[in-house]
Amino acid sequence: MKYRFFGEPGLHIMDSETGHPLYKFNDNGEIILSDDNPFLKRMMNHYQHEPVEPVAVNAQPEQDVTAEPFKFNCRKCSFETNNHGAFLAHCKKEHPKEVK
Ligand SMILES: [Zn+2]
Repeated sequence: MKYRFFGEPGLHIMDSETGHPLYKFNDNGEIILSDDNPFLKRMMNHYQHEPVEPVAVNAQPEQDVTAEPFKFNCRKCSFETNNHGAFLAHCKKEHPKEVK
């Protein structure tokens, strides 16, 4: 989860201990910090904030994928199965020369 903080655009957040600038509000007056950031709680005490909705990696609507079971097709005969173990057993039994 990330949080967006609102403040004065261009304003630097200073580390009170070191006096060094830590973060700077962007031109929109925003800083986005993830919730594992050690300064998050301190920021929350001082600035308005809101959780940032996670951005969907795949923005496209979910396709109706009805995945066909993976098929093992025997190259030596017409045998086919979607069970790997059964396929190996078939090869071993019907085409023993193919199994090393
Ligand atoms: Zn076969």
